[in-house]
Amino acid sequence: TVESLCQNDPNETALSQRQLDAFWMPFTSNRDFKQQPRVIVGAKGHFYKSADGRQVYDLFSGLWSSGIGHGHPKIVEAIAKQASELDYCMSFQLGNDKAFLLADRLAGLAPEGMDHVFFTNSGSEAVDTALKIALAYHQANGDFSRVGLVGRERGYHGANFGGISVGGIMPNRQLYQGNLLPRVYHIPTTYDREHQAFTDGQPQWGSHLVEELEKICRVNGSHNIAAVIVEPAAGSTGILPPPIGYLERLREICTKHGILLIFDEVITGLGRVGDSFAAQRMQVIPDIITTAKSLTNSMVPMGAAIVNKKIYQTIVDDSRSDNRNVEFFHGYTYSGHPIAAAAGLATLDIFEQEGTFETARELETLFSELLHSFDDHPKVIDVRNFGLMGAIELETRDNQLGARGLETHKRCFWEQNVVLRNSSDILQFSPFLNAKPEDLERSFSAIKKVLDTIE
Ligand code: PLP
Repeated sequence: TVESLCQNDPNETALSQRQLDAFWMPFTSNRDFKQQPRVIVGAKGHFYKSADGRQVYDLFSGLWSSGIGHGHPKIVEAIAKQASELDYCMSFQLGNDKAFLLADRLAGLAPEGMDHVFFTNSGSEAVDTALKIALAYHQANGDFSRVGLVGRERGYHGANFGGISVGGIMPNRQLYQGNLLPRVYHIPTTYDREHQAFTDGQPQWGSHLVEELEKICRVNGSHNIAAVIVEPAAGSTGILPPPIGYLERLREICTKHGILLIFDEVITGLGRVGDSFAAQRMQVIPDIITTAKSLTNSMVPMGAAIVNKKIYQTIVDDSRSDNRNVEFFHGYTYSGHPIAAAAGLATLDIFEQEGTFETARELETLFSELLHSFDDHPKVIDVRNFGLMGAIELETRDNQLGARGLETHKRCFWEQNVVLRNSSDILQFSPFLNAKPEDLERSFSAIKKVLDTIE
């Protein structure tokens, strides 16, 4: 248990300023963080051990990603066994057995007919891989004009150039405007507080917003558009569930115009919405799904792009490039890494043996009740949820965007022993898929204490 971890001498893990400065932390206010660093030195199950020896509840399950708890012994064992049996072999013109086994298992969880898996090391790489596959598919069909890509305002698709190009987050894009992918269009966000505030699950209002895609097709020619990429429910920009009917209509428009539909399920995939993928939960089937995070319960980095038979057949089996022995010039040193694949196989075993997706689905009612108990809180301007993804949006204090959100995150960590994430003034929650109800109840009352007393 994490209690035994916490008996260590906290001073053992103190870091020098020089060591703190050496790590340039991602998506972090480095200057602020390093004045009072929140350092984690251990984790077991649902708790972290902080460097000062406290037991801290992880209400974000890693980064939406460690749904069955930290340090699951079966995954630890699978990783150790794999490292001693086959640590690494390349996947270029050679392959390790576990990668094939995992691809097949993952295809088994994906919607019917989505049978082929390209492995990557992260969600960002899965997204860039999916975009390349979409472009390669149309080229292989001789559809050479289909090079346009469509993303969505407030979409997050990772930090690489493909992902920030289709992504709809200004601060991630603004320094690179001149170097983003060309011919990228954006449809509007599905979110509008005026019509949707405090909705439990999918809003009634807003499915018409998808009609902007028709406009993009009219203005630019649908025959010039290769693919549309969306998160079925936007996650890291603050939990923006799709309005009722929106995804169904999106599928209809894409099919009508021969445009591929990509669901970025890096967050929503593998349990977070109480099903294998949001595609199944919503009964809307895309052509490509990206996944990562939960695939190995985050214990080893791994991502994947899962594609339907038609795409694979077009690019691989019917390849026109008969004079080339490689059908698709793309891949990574660690694509299908055996240790990641072994961790993935162990994770999928646990999902199945423990009925994780069903457990997650059962937790939704309590999670939604706890979130919406903040609906009338004076500091709160909206509460949103979809599956086990939740957000409480705080009113911005004195025009200082994000200050109240960050202070809440810090006070929850130091005073209440709870980890949550803030993105600007939006508090985000991603509970364990097998969270204990009493832990969730305790954590949300701890958060309430902070919000009741915060400036
Ligand atoms: N796509 C979505 C929807 C995500 O939420 C994320 C990360 O949070 C990514 C892509 C990028 O994944 P990674 O950070 O593993 O590159």
